[in-house]
Amino acid sequence: MTKTILVTGGAGYVGSHACKALAAAGYTPVSFDNLSNGHDWAVKWGPLVVGDVLNPGDLDAAFAAHKPDAVMHFAALIEVGESVKYPEKFQLTNVTGSLNVLQAMGRAKVGRIVFSSTCAVHGDVGGALISETSPIAPISPYAKTKAEVEGVLADFSVSDGLKAVALRYFNASGADPDGEIGEAHDPESHLIPIACQAALGQREGMFIYGDDYDTPDGTCLRDYIHVTDLAMAHVKALERLDAAAPGVEAFCLGGGVGASVREVLDCVKKISGVDFPVTMQSRRLGDAPSLVADPRKAKTVLRWTPSHSDLQTIVKTAWAWHQKH
Ligand code: UDP
Repeated sequence: MTKTILVTGGAGYVGSHACKALAAAGYTPVSFDNLSNGHDWAVKWGPLVVGDVLNPGDLDAAFAAHKPDAVMHFAALIEVGESVKYPEKFQLTNVTGSLNVLQAMGRAKVGRIVFSSTCAVHGDVGGALISETSPIAPISPYAKTKAEVEGVLADFSVSDGLKAVALRYFNASGADPDGEIGEAHDPESHLIPIACQAALGQREGMFIYGDDYDTPDGTCLRDYIHVTDLAMAHVKALERLDAAAPGVEAFCLGGGVGASVREVLDCVKKISGVDFPVTMQSRRLGDAPSLVADPRKAKTVLRWTPSHSDLQTIVKTAWAWHQKH
C-alpha cells in the first residue's frame, strides 16, 4: 500500500514541486491549501483539500478522510517585507497555524513531520558560510516565526515523541524541468521571476537594490537552489524519519555557491536574449550582503545531491516557465 503524505501548502511553489517528487517516489500526496497564495492548477499528483491551517476543524477532517502517515508542512506566509508591516499576521498563520497542524497530528496519532524552514533563521552571519550549527539569530518577523516553530517542534518531540526534520532553504528558484509547474507569486518580489517578467516586457525594467555591499561586484550574494532539488530533499528527509528517534534535526539546503544579483541578471539576459533596463536603487531594508550555505550535512547525512542548481539550469527552467505563464 502506498503511503499518504498530507502536504500543507501543497498548491504553492515549493509544496507543489514536493508533491511531484513524492508521487515519483511512490507516495500519495494530499495537498491541504486555502488557495490564498497557492493555485489549484498546481495540484496534479494527488487530491486537493481546500482548508485552512487556522481552522483546526479543517485539519481534523483532512486527517480523518485521508489517514496520512506523515506531514510535510509548507503552509505559511513568506513575504519578508509584509512581515515587517504586519507581524501579527505572520505570528497567526505561521506559528498558530503550525501549532494547529501539530495538535491535529497528535489527535490523529501521526508522529512525523518535515517542516519548511529558512536559512533566514540564522540572520546575517557576516559573509561566513551558513551551516546548521551557525547561531539562530533571525532578523525579520518572518524568520522569527520559522525559528519559533523549529523550537516548538523540539518541544513536541519531548512532550509527544514527535519526529521532525526542519529544512532551511536558501533561495528557492527555477521551475519544474518538465514545465508542469513553476513559481507564480502575486505580487512577485523575487529576483529571478522579476527579471523574467522584465525580459518578457511584463514590466518596464527592474531595480538592483544596492551595489555598495562588500562583495566582489558590490551586489548581494545568494545561494540559488533549484526547487526540484529542494523537493527531492523533502523525500529524503521523510525517509530519514522512518528510522529516526524522537527529536528535530535541521538541514541547510543550498548549493554552497553564491551568485551576485548582477550575475543573475546577466544570466537572464543571456538566456532570454533580451537586454531589459536595470536601474540602480538604494539597499532594500533587511537584505544581508551574503547568504551562502555549507550544505555538507545534507549531502552526507541525507545523501542529497542537487543536480539542477547551477545558475544556467535554474534560469533556463524559470525562463521556460515564465514564457508559458
Ligand atoms: N533583488 C534586486 N531586485 C529585485 C529583487 C531582488 O536587486 O527586483 C535582490 C535582493 O535585494 C537580494 C537578491 O536580489 O539581494 C535576492 O532577493 P530575493 O527577493 O529573490 O530573495 P531573498 O534573498 O530576499 O530571499
